[in-house]
Amino acid sequence: MSSQQTIKRIAIFGSTGSIGTQALEVIAENPSLFSAEVLTAHNNDELLIEQALKFNPNIVVIGDDKKYAAVKDALASTDIKVFAGEKALEEVASMDCYDLMLAAIVGYAGLRPTLKAIENGKAIALANKETLVVAGDIIMRKAVENRVPIIPVDSEHSAIFQCLIGETRNKIEKVILTASGGPFIGRKPNYLVNVKREHALQHPNWSMGAKITIDSATLMNKGLEMIEAKWLFNLKPEQVQVVIHPQSIIHSMVQFEDGSVKAQMGLPDMKLPIQYALTFPQRIKNDFPRMDFKKITTLSFEEPDVKTFRNLALAEEALNKAGNLPCIMNAANEIAVFAFLRNRINFLDMTDLIEKTMKFNFRHLFFPDINRTSFINLL
Ligand code: NDP
Ligand code: MG
Repeated sequence: MSSQQTIKRIAIFGSTGSIGTQALEVIAENPSLFSAEVLTAHNNDELLIEQALKFNPNIVVIGDDKKYAAVKDALASTDIKVFAGEKALEEVASMDCYDLMLAAIVGYAGLRPTLKAIENGKAIALANKETLVVAGDIIMRKAVENRVPIIPVDSEHSAIFQCLIGETRNKIEKVILTASGGPFIGRKPNYLVNVKREHALQHPNWSMGAKITIDSATLMNKGLEMIEAKWLFNLKPEQVQVVIHPQSIIHSMVQFEDGSVKAQMGLPDMKLPIQYALTFPQRIKNDFPRMDFKKITTLSFEEPDVKTFRNLALAEEALNKAGNLPCIMNAANEIAVFAFLRNRINFLDMTDLIEKTMKFNFRHLFFPDINRTSFINLL
């Protein structure tokens, strides 16, 4: 980027999370390129205050109204505007004080602010995959209508996005999403039934928020990513394939109609796709650790075990049947993960809960072709 370039004003929705804090590291390392204009948290007022004092944003939002006074008091000597509550997230997303939203809230809660930002014509760096799982049709259509770029942050989708640069006229045969397999790769149900929360929260390759770490352990994360890929890259379900790649070096691949396969590689570090989403279409220099191919002796691949990790099979069913089934699946998964994290259900119960919810007779509620206008009115 040239030194003449104006500073890109970033709104980080979910600044206190794993993605949010890493994005702030990228911003801190590149003060001539970026400013943190909006920061939002849900409960973590202490970290939000600390971030606000360090980055001096225009606006902060604390989701939990009860924490408003604490945040307001702590920032009283600054010009930072403080808002609170769910509605404030949407109101701030509709403001003009930023150029790009990093959508890094976890779960369904991220949908509405992201939709408002798109309607507001703001570029989106999308980490929140649930947004596309529950409303991919609406999000992608609104993005086209408002000429808003949706730049993926999820490492697999960032990889595919990078593989597709310069290939606009070439047909994709399929995309191959790589999955580490999580901490329980190779395990069977008799082991998984006894898995405890603390163990499931230990991911071998990535350090992430609690919800996505559990989703990675159950392989639901890869299922959500299949649906995310379908919307981002306008693919048919049969064009999205998953392969287990325990080293997490190849972040994903694209196979073109001549059989040629392009892959994007890197060490498993989310700061790289975060930085790329913020600087796209440029790449900028950084001091992140580099790959050393002399030390990477093995890159291995295997079929996912969908009989054991049934969440992936359920997500494939949702991908194929489409309509509002992915939304139903996502809702059940959010509840299941929440319950598991509170030790209320066991590891395998999560899949049973999701399966039962998906099989529930939603006949009168199942819309193979969602009535978009009425759905938008519900939002
Ligand atoms: P975290 O749980 O670490 O952070 C979530 C952020 O969202 C926090 O700032 C949190 O605030 C805020 N938040 C939580 N609930 C609400 C709510 N109801 N309303 C408003 N804000 C809320 O999540 P991650 O950073 O791990 O993940 C964020 C998103 O990015 C997810 O959708 C995930 O799937 C996706 N993603 C994450 C990756 C990773 O490496 N972490 C990789 C690829 C995708 P508070 O801290 O106050 O609770
Ligand atoms: Mg991912």
